[in-house]
Amino acid sequence: MSNSFSALDMAEHQIADLDTKLLRRKLRTTESPCDTKARIGQRELKTFCSNDYLGLANHPELVSAIAEGAKLYGVGSGASHLISGHSIAHDLLEKKLATFESAHISDVRALFFSTGYLANVTAITGLARLAGPSEVSIYSAKLNHASLIDGVRLASAQTKAQVTLFDHQNLNFLEEVLKHDVHPLKLIVIDGVFSMDGDIAPVENLIQIAEKYDALLMVDDAHGFGVLGQQGHGILEQSEVHSERIIYIGTLGKAAGVSGAFICAAAPFIEWLIQKGRPYIYSTATPPAIAHTLLTSLELIESDEGISRRQQLNQLIQIWHDEMKFTHWEKVPSFTPIQPVILGSNANALAAAKLLDEVGYWIPAIRPPTVPVGSSRLRITFSANHSVEDLRKLIKTLKMIEQKIESGS
Ligand SMILES: *Cc1c(COP(=O)(O)O)cnc(C)c1O
Repeated sequence: MSNSFSALDMAEHQIADLDTKLLRRKLRTTESPCDTKARIGQRELKTFCSNDYLGLANHPELVSAIAEGAKLYGVGSGASHLISGHSIAHDLLEKKLATFESAHISDVRALFFSTGYLANVTAITGLARLAGPSEVSIYSAKLNHASLIDGVRLASAQTKAQVTLFDHQNLNFLEEVLKHDVHPLKLIVIDGVFSMDGDIAPVENLIQIAEKYDALLMVDDAHGFGVLGQQGHGILEQSEVHSERIIYIGTLGKAAGVSGAFICAAAPFIEWLIQKGRPYIYSTATPPAIAHTLLTSLELIESDEGISRRQQLNQLIQIWHDEMKFTHWEKVPSFTPIQPVILGSNANALAAAKLLDEVGYWIPAIRPPTVPVGSSRLRITFSANHSVEDLRKLIKTLKMIEQKIESGS
């Protein structure tokens, strides 16, 4: 009797299919800290692709803080938060995070998570359970991050929530549907800064809509926290909004340079998520040393150094808009450190990434399903550790590569 192993055949077939469609992704292994240069094997590449916007991931004060945290608390938390894993380091971090958003959310409390993915899934599924089955309606922006999409899908499977997708640049549709929505619980879910386009969500308008139709507004500010606002508190600070309806998510592995995420919301929502947020309850607490490191990161974000790092980013963004002129490719109207260049086809995006690599740049091609079909792109990101000279060299290189690809040579 032959032992045919069909799952293995399926896996091989599926991977071959991705290859054919130019959709297979490849892991690249770095051997250096995250910074504006990366060592890969014998090569050193200039990177314009990390989300380490403030350039803190290899900051000496944070490197010392993590060593100090390990001395104070060891390396593991040993259990989930509700068992025995909740340390004073987590508690101090949550108190500090709450102060970051206290001007924008009444009676605010913060809850720390090991990743943004986990925070998003916990917030959406947990909040959806505030009402009974079929009593929830969720409005999710079409270009939302995958972790929000998955949270919405899971909530809808668990609570039979009704899901409506909306275009964040056309809020009339959202309002039209909300007007006739009789569900007792309504939740609007949106990226603060859209991760593949760099544009900023219209939170002022969204809060007005949330107030008018008695909805909650959940804003995932993964790319705004640390970057937006004078003090780096994120999109709520930048847009000067205030509402008890805001559920704010910030992540701590991007501009904050470390790892983790948090939810800030009115205290009763946080208490409810501690009681019923399954991914929070059934997951081991992040090492306290990480929370300890993050306290230093938050201090840096608010400090004069943080302010000057944000000024550096803004200068880079300004120069990009002033000096980067394409003839065939498209820039997008982004005023954040995320600056995509839209090439359209997978083949062109891959060819551009490959040519960039050959001249020493690491800027990956982003393809579907991360972005809509036909909008494959280079996703360029700036770090405060990039100099103006670094950027000008990149601009020159991109112009040369556009010429090369579009002339077919
Ligand atoms: C990166 C990202 C997340 C996930 O955060 P992690 O901490 O990396 O899990 C969530 N939302 C958005 C918009 C992101 O870009």
